[in-house]
Amino acid sequence: MSYDQVTVPDKGSKITLADPKTGELDVPDTPIIPIIHGDGIGTDVGPAAQQVLDAAAEATGRSVAWMRLYAGSSARETYGENLPDDTVNAIREHRAAIKGPLTTPVGSGFRSLNVALRQKLDLYANVRPTYYLDGVPSPVKNPEEMNMVTFRENTEDVYAGIEWEAGTDGVEEVKSFIEDDMGYNEMLHDGPIGIGIKPITEFGTKRLVRQAIDYALANDRDTVTLVHKGNIMKFTEGAFRDWGYELVEEEYDDVAITEDELWEEYDGEAPDDMLVVNDRIADNMLQQLLTRTDEYEVIATMNLNGDYMSDAAGAQIGGLGIAPGANFGDGLCLAEPVHGSAPKYAGEDKVNPTAMILSGRLLFEYLGWDDAGALVRDAVEDAIASGEVTYDLHRQIEGGTKLSTSEFADAIVERIHDLA
Ligand code: NAD
Repeated sequence: MSYDQVTVPDKGSKITLADPKTGELDVPDTPIIPIIHGDGIGTDVGPAAQQVLDAAAEATGRSVAWMRLYAGSSARETYGENLPDDTVNAIREHRAAIKGPLTTPVGSGFRSLNVALRQKLDLYANVRPTYYLDGVPSPVKNPEEMNMVTFRENTEDVYAGIEWEAGTDGVEEVKSFIEDDMGYNEMLHDGPIGIGIKPITEFGTKRLVRQAIDYALANDRDTVTLVHKGNIMKFTEGAFRDWGYELVEEEYDDVAITEDELWEEYDGEAPDDMLVVNDRIADNMLQQLLTRTDEYEVIATMNLNGDYMSDAAGAQIGGLGIAPGANFGDGLCLAEPVHGSAPKYAGEDKVNPTAMILSGRLLFEYLGWDDAGALVRDAVEDAIASGEVTYDLHRQIEGGTKLSTSEFADAIVERIHDLA
């Protein structure tokens, strides 16, 4: 494919799909990896992550041919549009990419570019690991008990963008359909109204839960928890739970049991080689994250619950500056930190690049570069444990050294060289 809005690097080659059935990749020693630095603090954390990931790749005998892509304000300045087609196509074609945060205006203006990217590329699982790094200040007593991975459905739910603005013909049409045709009369208040739709499909649910179960099986986890508010939203969130359990019976009968089966057939004692799939109501789950942290390992949930839950879990292990993420489709990965573009700190060389760096670890693991990923994690942990940290962590610990974004990246690179 040729591009007008992207420069193809003069070294490296493309990652290809070795087996479309399993999603197994063929990764060259110097893969071309697209990177979007992003808006706001993306200009700080993007280059810092690139530097650290380069060091870890080189220390393990590889290199990365970065392909700079543009989205958000950088794309607007250069190409006059927020999300050029070439950006989307280049990520699709190269299969593994990383991005920094992109700004979305609240209430008006264009729709979220992050949501648009996830939908255009059908990146249906947003995966957010929350694990504790030694030395990170935390608001809870035992942050080391948190070692959980959240699989958040990325394409459906109230985030699907099927909504109508108050005062438009569209919203009046939908309102009269709801009231007159569907019989929900007297249920909507008079006056200006905004309406959104919450689609949850069997297809969307099953492919998300499948990713969560496959991850749990491949990584020796004991449980997968379906998180929903099905007691209230029976036909959407309740259906998510039911389809999740149905999938266990259909495809994982020999390796997984449901919580009901655990009690009915095994008296509450799961056999060693069986994964247990259970479910929790979302509001209870937010409590349990704090009170029974170590009981939860892999979470599968819908878009909105997943957004809230993974931010709350992230706060327990050090906050937004630390929390990594990645979006997965079939044969496609786009890693990105959980945090946004924090515009007030943009360009100040101040914020914590850890979340973007650890998102790079997820990208490396997707390539099968587990050794490089482990090196990134260990080097970050060493740097933080020594008290050399950015302002967000520095203000919470005693006696540390405050580093800028770029100094912190240098400190991690130094440790990569020491550890390798
Ligand atoms: P935000 O994550 O940008 O910032 C909230 C606060 O968290 C900041 O003020 C800062 O105190 C702290 N913070 C965030 N990242 C940090 C880091 N790396 N180091 C240290 N502290 C950090 O959230 P927001 O203010 O709600 O959103 C700002 C913009 O980002 C909005 O336009 C929003 O739509 C967008 N956003 C984008 C993404 C994404 O690209 N995936 C995700 C969330 C928000």
